[in-house]
Amino acid sequence: MNCDIATLMQVLQSGDPDEQLQALDACFAVLADPSLWYWLIGFTLVCALVGALIGRYKNAVVRDTLLGLALGPIGWGISLLLPKTVSRPPCRACGKPTETNDKFCRHCGTPL
Ligand SMILES: [Zn+2]
Repeated sequence: MNCDIATLMQVLQSGDPDEQLQALDACFAVLADPSLWYWLIGFTLVCALVGALIGRYKNAVVRDTLLGLALGPIGWGISLLLPKTVSRPPCRACGKPTETNDKFCRHCGTPL
């Protein structure tokens, strides 16, 4: 028995519990097939890699890698729509990194 929509609809409408169990077993066998998981893991890694490449362009590698990992091609679109992060020089007084929209250093309070 195959695990496809047409077969499943036919089995559900037949009302035969034995056939329904066979269909359930067929669908679990599809889910347990390792080649499906290899494809899914490979696709997820490619999505994260493309996200990282977009992030490298946008100066936000971690953010865009996570977006690509979690959302795939939708995450790429979000990454491309987000504004490019401008890297700022570290604080003149303490040398700690600063955020884009900060007016004062978060570590020592010096105006930026
Ligand atoms: Zn500082």
